[in-house]
Amino acid sequence: MKFNKPLLIDHPFEDWVWNDVPKFRKEQVRKWIFEKEKLNWNQMFNLPKSMKEKLEEKFDLMPMEKVQVQGSRDTTQKFLWILRDNQLIESVLIPATIGTKGIRASRLTLCVSTQVGCALQCKFCASGLDGLKRNLTTGEIVGQILLARKEAGKRIDNIVFMGMGEPLANLPALLPALDQILSPKGLGIGARHLTLSTSGLAPKIIELAKYPAQIRLAISLHGGDDETRSKIMPINDRYSIDELFEACEKFIQKRKKMITLEYILIKGVNDDLRQAELLARHSRRLNAKVNLIPYNEVDGLNWKRPSRAKIKAFHKRVEKGDVPGVTLRMEKGFDIDAACGQLRLRKKTSAD
Ligand code: SAH
Repeated sequence: MKFNKPLLIDHPFEDWVWNDVPKFRKEQVRKWIFEKEKLNWNQMFNLPKSMKEKLEEKFDLMPMEKVQVQGSRDTTQKFLWILRDNQLIESVLIPATIGTKGIRASRLTLCVSTQVGCALQCKFCASGLDGLKRNLTTGEIVGQILLARKEAGKRIDNIVFMGMGEPLANLPALLPALDQILSPKGLGIGARHLTLSTSGLAPKIIELAKYPAQIRLAISLHGGDDETRSKIMPINDRYSIDELFEACEKFIQKRKKMITLEYILIKGVNDDLRQAELLARHSRRLNAKVNLIPYNEVDGLNWKRPSRAKIKAFHKRVEKGDVPGVTLRMEKGFDIDAACGQLRLRKKTSAD
């Protein structure tokens, strides 16, 4: 996809952008964008007109416009954005209270999209139903955070790359976006507050290991053996569980960082206790935490969530397997189709 102009926030800190602009002016623009979320030349009133005109000739500022905000009963909010080429993407803002008794604090997590649609065709997920339209640019990834922060009116504490798309299939745009998110000059969010989830692109996991920051990595496993995983995730035919884990081991070794195995529970597909035992074995092998996610049902797909009793039994069996940690993630935003796997490619309709 070619736009007429790039976004300024595709390359906000690169020297060639600022050629003949004095340093203090560049700093003024940076403040408008990253501290005040003003993505509009007219609002940058302390800049000379001639300078704004020159920049405007070369760059767009606003990566997307808000089309809709849906609020969920559990206070999760889903934003629908329209990009400059009229494609639609979503981000989900998830408030949570953390801490026990005495000290409690609230934290805001934003679930960010990295592509329009998805090419991976995991059989249970809504995001890939219409295939991949295109990669997001760096500025479109960062823009979701800037604009969601503006909407929320407060700091966003955690970022999870678990929205639409496969983050590791878009590393050329994602890595510079990570730079901006981590930089104190950009969004200033700590690496330990960023989690990237992947369906398991093994060579890209090795590539990501070279990225110097301590970001968190989560692997969408969803099957304890190749037969079960391949049934629901075609990517497993390209990179088997063993190949995937070899890449994970390299990542762990290089980054000295624990990873998480995500495991969605789908009725009659991957929820029997044998799978729980395999999952525990994998978790021990990688010294990885396990995150169990009861399946969120998707319109038009026939997969079902197991019964509560079945989920509990699976959870217990993994726990008994002496794993470094296992949590059960209850969905947020289910009533507004904002839960994991429910973000889908949408077309603009007159109802929006
Ligand atoms: N492409 C990346 C990130 C996107 S989804 C990945 O595959 O990891 C984030 C998580 O939600 C993944 O673990 C994904 O498998 C899971 N997911 C997808 N559809 C789901 C559904 N309907 N219910 C619950 N989790 C789902």
